[in-house]
Amino acid sequence: MTTAQTNVFETLESEVRSYCRNWPTVFESAKGAWLRDENGKEYLDFFAGAGALNYGHNNPVLKHALIDYLMSDGITHGLDMSTVAKRDFLETFQRTILEPRGLDYKVQFPGPTGANTVEAALKLARKVTGRESIVSFTNAFHGMTLGALSVTGNSMKRAGAGIPLVHATPMPFDNYFDGVTEDFHWFERVLDDSGSGLNRPAAVIVETVQGEGGINVARPEWLRALADLCAKRDILLIVDDVQMGCGRTGPFFSFEIAGITPDIVTLSKSISGYGLPMALTLFKSELDQWSPGEHNGTFRGNNPAFVTSRVALEHFWSDPAFEQATLAKGARIRAAFDELAQRHDGVSSRGRGMVQGLKFTEPDHAAKVCRYAFDKGLLAETSGPSDEVVKLLPPLTLTEDELDHGMRILTEATDVVMS
Ligand code: PMP
Repeated sequence: MTTAQTNVFETLESEVRSYCRNWPTVFESAKGAWLRDENGKEYLDFFAGAGALNYGHNNPVLKHALIDYLMSDGITHGLDMSTVAKRDFLETFQRTILEPRGLDYKVQFPGPTGANTVEAALKLARKVTGRESIVSFTNAFHGMTLGALSVTGNSMKRAGAGIPLVHATPMPFDNYFDGVTEDFHWFERVLDDSGSGLNRPAAVIVETVQGEGGINVARPEWLRALADLCAKRDILLIVDDVQMGCGRTGPFFSFEIAGITPDIVTLSKSISGYGLPMALTLFKSELDQWSPGEHNGTFRGNNPAFVTSRVALEHFWSDPAFEQATLAKGARIRAAFDELAQRHDGVSSRGRGMVQGLKFTEPDHAAKVCRYAFDKGLLAETSGPSDEVVKLLPPLTLTEDELDHGMRILTEATDVVMS
């Protein structure tokens, strides 16, 4: 319904807008796990900027560092010039993230979004191998630019390209055939069969948990088998950790659980810690075959994001307790979802760490649960090819009381919708 409060969005802003349709109010301020609209109603945020706000809204530690930096006239826009803020970030990233994990990655700053880092990863894989084809997975999501769309599954999003999306071949993700057929057979077979029609790929791109695709969780053994297959066939393995990285599943990188070392890793969303645009492409040093300026961009030096990112790494990632707390809270969400799945036919739970989903056989039910939750003051979104999964991405920093409050609303919503 159009009101004076929403009029300009409906008359001036493009029809392409989406989240605001499910959450029809006008938000004004936010703190921690809470958003407040301009009428003063509060909403517990179980979506956290689609995974860009792992440390909550306006985290005070990051906010003070940001304000101090701005007040001291620190560089805001830095192209890819060397700056103090960038140096401090790189040194901290190396010390808190790369070194403790024994990762010998070079760091590229692409444009500051997930799609930008995916594009950089695909271009680099093609350049290094001299091959053009990429293998992706069913229900994958990698972004809206043409390269990223070519490895994305969703047919509606793909159709938006308006041109053929080529040089990418989808393979079945883990458990695509519900465990009946071993999912790897097809991929291995076509790789080795010169009559299969599959060009030898430059790279495989995979999410360890498919966020947009419906919270499909790859088993560690499946990821290990994929990494082995890639290594044996000289195919680069790209893990897209844009949504599942920065602690969402527990450890900083979501692939740590499988003990694998991807050749290329994409990060964005929560890497700045504060919701500021920032992205990284990480790759093994021998892959650093870029020529200077070959992959350029005006907004690769968002220095305020380097500041908040550094402080987030120092504050949250110097102590293993943070990962443990994420896993404990994730288990609490999962227990509530498991109970609902037991109580209601056609409902099942899925997830890892603090990305959890409740899947409904009837897609409409997931939308109704989210709508009910919104009315009760909780933001949650749907995902999956038919939007059949209620998907939770709460801030990792939310308290147990907030978590329980949110799960009470979702439990009530599911009980009402399924009654
Ligand atoms: N990769 C993954 C796994 C994502 O979840 C997303 C965003 N949902 C992207 C890439 C694209 O990120 P962005 O929207 O910042 O371009």
